[in-house]
Amino acid sequence: MAGEPQSDCLFCRIVAGEVPATIVRETETTVAFRDINPQAPTHVLVIPRVHYPDAASLAAGAPTVAADLLREAGEVAAQEKTDADGYRIVLNTGAGAGQTVFHVHAHVLGGRGLTWPPG
Ligand code: AMP
Ligand code: ZN
Repeated sequence: MAGEPQSDCLFCRIVAGEVPATIVRETETTVAFRDINPQAPTHVLVIPRVHYPDAASLAAGAPTVAADLLREAGEVAAQEKTDADGYRIVLNTGAGAGQTVFHVHAHVLGGRGLTWPPG
């Protein structure tokens, strides 16, 4: 069922505490932890506790949690002190766009010059 934990999902297992992660912030609805393969000095993933595969399905199925996710991305940037210089929120959607974990996650990237368009 939409939103239910998936036993074969890495990020559901992080939410459940079954897989270790370096958690930097938690709320009732979200968990934020450092990416294991950082692409910038600040590279944090913000995920909802509920399981949805991507951002659009989260927004359709649990819109208040989608809002929580974006607000928390901003809170992470502020906590990491990257908000003044600018930061990027990335929501890869689909394997063709580089999504490898199909539990929606917002990448929060900052702490270095971020060019646009990205490579
Ligand atoms: P994406 O390619 O958008 O699906 O992003 C998945 C991200 O999850 C990648 O940046 C990985 O480095 C990261 N990742 C994979 N496994 C872990 C883990 N156990 N802890 C933290 N980050 C992870
Ligand atoms: Zn999941």
